[in-house]
Amino acid sequence: MKKIDVIIIGASASGLMCAIEAAKRGRDVVVLDHANKAGKKILMSGGGRCNFTNYDVSTENYISHNPHFVKSALSRFTQWDFIAMVEAYKILYHVREHGQLFCDDSSKDILNLLLNECKKVNVGIQLKTDILKIDKQSDHHFIIKSNSGDFHCQSLVIASGGLSIPKMGATPFGYKVAEQFNIKVWPTSAGLVPFTLHKHDKETLSDLSGIAINSVVSTKKINFRENILFTHRGLSGPAILQVSSYWDAGETIEINLLPDIDLLETLTEAFEKQPQIKLKTLLYKLLPKRLINVFIKADLLDKTLQEISHKQFQHVASALQNWSIQPNGTEGYRTAEVTIGGVDCDALSSKTFESKTVSGLYFIGEVMDISGWLGGYNFQWSWSSGWCAGQYV
Ligand SMILES: Cc1cc2nc3c(=O)[nH]c(=O)nc-3n(C[C@H](O)[C@H](O)[C@H](O)COP(=O)(O)OP(=O)(O)OC[C@H]3O[C@@H](n4cnc5c(N)ncnc54)[C@H](O)[C@@H]3O)c2cc1C
Repeated sequence: MKKIDVIIIGASASGLMCAIEAAKRGRDVVVLDHANKAGKKILMSGGGRCNFTNYDVSTENYISHNPHFVKSALSRFTQWDFIAMVEAYKILYHVREHGQLFCDDSSKDILNLLLNECKKVNVGIQLKTDILKIDKQSDHHFIIKSNSGDFHCQSLVIASGGLSIPKMGATPFGYKVAEQFNIKVWPTSAGLVPFTLHKHDKETLSDLSGIAINSVVSTKKINFRENILFTHRGLSGPAILQVSSYWDAGETIEINLLPDIDLLETLTEAFEKQPQIKLKTLLYKLLPKRLINVFIKADLLDKTLQEISHKQFQHVASALQNWSIQPNGTEGYRTAEVTIGGVDCDALSSKTFESKTVSGLYFIGEVMDISGWLGGYNFQWSWSSGWCAGQYV
């Protein structure tokens, strides 16, 4: 039996950050993980270059039943604090659109930074450890039974993440622990995930696979302007991923494929100036030919503008600027970047991340009912929540 001050379950972004901070305070810290490697999601993130934070972070970039919860932690450990760590390690990085910061070389740089900091302050990391049972003896005394023996600890931190990418070791472990201690868990769903399409839409759009268009995608709640990507499975690309986190099953989304112009106005002006040109000559200049051929009927495309009625112009404009499509569903946790829902924020202190009802039990990172937008916001939440909890565990 091992007696330890702090046990953290989950050796990834939030867990390692918490471990570093707690150990810096002189706490004896052990991080347990069932995976054979720490930080697998860090390694696969950002297409291998880890979008580790964003220049512009605010509450609006997060989805939660308690949208104000993130404020405190995000202001105590900010994106600038994490950038300072990255710079201290001389990790080269670059900014992409919307203030997203990526490593120049590899996500490994970020994981190595965390592991190196852990080493400096003697954090123990024990991998391939299956947690069999958690018992609470008394306040600030937990017994964790695992396949590598029993651990006793004063503070138990759950940093086991959400459900996305089960292949990478994602499990509902954290939700089960919360339920064991009667802590509310909001229903979960896949977020930042591509949409699948109904059969007829899939067939109609199948020729467009690989085309990316800068668009505005809207749901009832929000809209995003970024690329959409037609794939052989359905719709993807950053604008689709962002909207998917707000999408309710059965809901129709609207897509404006030409957000910079008023197409009806463009068509009307062209009709006045060049009535002899064919509709396709005009539209092929605005969007890829393959796409136009799918969205607008061939006989109409072959007509000159003077042969087309104003009503038909309206239909053309609407088809490309108010394209309504009802996704069949999402690709689910298999490809989702985040999990929406999770451990109820109201059950936790926004200062310490300790449960309000179970002394010594903490939840941090993605296991909580907090999901960030695409753009480095999820890692920033892991860094901020892990850092804050690390000051108290
Ligand atoms: C493909 C992909 C790309 C992404 N890219 C980005 C990006 O570029 N920028 C960004 O901000 N966010 C990105 N994210 C989201 C980001 O990776 C997560 O939000 C973040 O890793 C959450 O950190 P966490 O520490 O809370 O949980 P996780 O990183 O999920 O870590 C949880 C840890 O707990 C362990 N664990 C789980 N269950 C158990 C169990 N039963 N017993 C023991 N251990 C367990 C896991 O093995 C894992 O090591 C991406 C996600 C994916 C899937």
